[in-house]
Amino acid sequence: MRISRVSVSCSNCGASFETEIRVSASSGDFGLDGKPDNADFLPVIYDCPECGYAGYKIDGDKPKIPEAFAVNRDDPYDKYERALVLATTDDVRNHLLMEYTWQLEFDGKTAEALSVRERAVSQMERSLSIRPVIELAFIYIDFLRQLGRFDEAEETLNSISPIVTADADKRPKFYQLLLFLQRLIKDRDKAPHMISEV
Ligand SMILES: [Zn+2]
Repeated sequence: MRISRVSVSCSNCGASFETEIRVSASSGDFGLDGKPDNADFLPVIYDCPECGYAGYKIDGDKPKIPEAFAVNRDDPYDKYERALVLATTDDVRNHLLMEYTWQLEFDGKTAEALSVRERAVSQMERSLSIRPVIELAFIYIDFLRQLGRFDEAEETLNSISPIVTADADKRPKFYQLLLFLQRLIKDRDKAPHMISEV
């Protein structure tokens, strides 16, 4: 993996600062919930040291910062919270909460990771109710499974099963994943599993 230092200028306050980005990180395998096999593969969250504007990019349009925007430099994960406050789409909120969960897991913070995993589930639920996307539904199901919420995981799996089964020839990987998840849920298995096992 190569680390490169880049100079970023904040579109909120205009401050320029340097930050490290990982240039050639890769992941050999992914969890059923989409988690990469190493933390270096997680995308960078830019974090302006001056005003606390945080997000996947902060050099675009000037953001609307809410009046009650709080910056807590004592919490190393606060940039995720700020990026969530400022996120404008469900897609971004989904990804932030997934990556926040995984980062906490990579750091060995099990209890914190579980509580953010719950938040990720609620967010994905909202997102799926507006725009049902099969890829996200699979991730949502695995987030539920790893929380031990097997009945809800099964219910959602059953709801996508007819579509995935009808498409089995066209998208065999989804079909295999469906069968694999069915078995894990039946076995009440909440351990992380990798795509390579499917
Ligand atoms: Zn700034």
